[in-house]
Amino acid sequence: MNDACIYLDHAATTPVDPRVLDAMLPFFSERYGNPSSVYDLGRDARAGLDWARETLAHLLNCQSSEIIMTSGATEANNAAIKGVAWGRRLQGEQPGGHIVISAIEHPSVLQAAGSLDLHGFEMTHVLPDKDGIVAPDAVAAALRPDTCLISVMLASNEIGTIQPLQDIARVARERGIAMHTDAVQAAGALPLDVDLLGVDLLTLSAHKFYGPKGVGALYARQGVPLAWQQHGGGQENTRRGGTENVALIVGMATALALAYHELEERVAHTRTLRDRLIDELLERVPDARLNGHAERRLPNNVNLTFGGVDGEPLLLSLDMLGIAASSGSACSTGSMEPSHVLRAIGLDDGMARGSLRLTVGKDNTRDEIDRAIESIASVIARIRALTAAGYA
Ligand code: PMP
Repeated sequence: MNDACIYLDHAATTPVDPRVLDAMLPFFSERYGNPSSVYDLGRDARAGLDWARETLAHLLNCQSSEIIMTSGATEANNAAIKGVAWGRRLQGEQPGGHIVISAIEHPSVLQAAGSLDLHGFEMTHVLPDKDGIVAPDAVAAALRPDTCLISVMLASNEIGTIQPLQDIARVARERGIAMHTDAVQAAGALPLDVDLLGVDLLTLSAHKFYGPKGVGALYARQGVPLAWQQHGGGQENTRRGGTENVALIVGMATALALAYHELEERVAHTRTLRDRLIDELLERVPDARLNGHAERRLPNNVNLTFGGVDGEPLLLSLDMLGIAASSGSACSTGSMEPSHVLRAIGLDDGMARGSLRLTVGKDNTRDEIDRAIESIASVIARIRALTAAGYA
């Protein structure tokens, strides 16, 4: 690995904060008990798990019984969407139903919802406007008498757009429809009070806020009928079987507590660096445009399209210069399919393929940002010169 790497891909993942690692380590060694065991060692692990659950509940402003630990956001999104869909049957409803999701969701939401197709559910995908905002009116217009779930992410992993979630949730509440949000990218950038947001279900993933990979949580409001997806040994109050990964769960709670504690300074720092990247690149690189709303966006997200420049050679050239960035979503990098999010906001395939996502983090420095700006501007000029000369 390149030690001098300038890491600008914090939407893909973040490094584990050393304070988070310290909090986790005892649960890999001396506090290794199974939290379901009745003896002292088990009770000690249970204490760590209980602490983590209470900490998360406090930060989200909910009951600790409303938190279900998962293996990450993918599982939490699947549990929420399939859980509500199957939950209808638990209430004696007819099979099938209707689900409304935004067209710019993460694949774990899109695919989980899509899988219900086989079981007689119908989907409406609500398109955002050209800035990536999903209008509450558009959500309201998509509803049907049999709509059982609305799922709209709080902030986009690709273009960073922050949705008017409170207004969308109000629409859901007025109609008695369950409201889910994938808050993965918003965690650590925005406070996540589930009552203020008005949501019934909310998804988190620890590795996006300086916690470990492979652990996440689903908030599920008490009373929302959910059919649990993972059956097993009765853990998580029978809602998700499998021995809890106590170390990772403690890491997740520690990371979110730190994110809240340091929210203001992290937001101020990343916003300054983000604005510098946007302003300088738009000024220095001809034919560049910003994707996503200019103000209603995550404080760390930059998503730019450079006319006539393909994302793949751009990323490879930046990689050679030690800059880690992304084009489209990291989860689909490699497929080179143009991003569904960029297409949904009206970019054609060529423009969508030419996008560059830079997501800054709490530990990036101004010097790194300045070096990245230099490199990006010169790499684009070189790619364009080669293209013009017929070499690319
Ligand atoms: N939702 C969003 C918005 C994401 O950005 C991601 C990660 N790219 C996920 C869900 C899935 O998270 P995980 O890989 O931790 O399951």
